[in-house]
Amino acid sequence: MKEMKVDAIRNGTVIDHIPAGKSWQVTEILKIHGAPLLVGVNLSSRKFGRKDLIKIEDHELSLAEANSIALIAPQASISIIREFEIAEKITVTIPSEIVELIVCPNPNCVTNSEPVLTRFATGGPSPGPGGSVSVSCTYCEKRYRVEDVRIRV
Ligand SMILES: [Zn+2]
Repeated sequence: MKEMKVDAIRNGTVIDHIPAGKSWQVTEILKIHGAPLLVGVNLSSRKFGRKDLIKIEDHELSLAEANSIALIAPQASISIIREFEIAEKITVTIPSEIVELIVCPNPNCVTNSEPVLTRFATGGPSPGPGGSVSVSCTYCEKRYRVEDVRIRV
């Protein structure tokens, strides 16, 4: 199967190696609805089998923005493009604590009945391709795979 070619961008950001099917969540989290996006879905990848890719025109991702997508795409590779060249590469790091972004799946958790921000501590990605991050709620101390929690977008 041939890899789909996505047009080159002059200035902006390329987010590669997003797990297949997760690109919409990444764009939701980044909230960059104003910038033109090129999204490649379900592309073939030697490393992961299938992947998504996002190109954002005229927007350079900040380190904080890059880290905010770590939950969804911990192995994403992010390149800042200037004048069609890769000017910078950003390595995604998973923050040790995630505030507000995750909804606790435990119906008895205080965060679902009281107006408190959720806080989750993260565990590292599990080994292997597409390995996911585990998160544990600071309030009810339950641990979840990141696929099993709802991300507030
Ligand atoms: Zn909880």
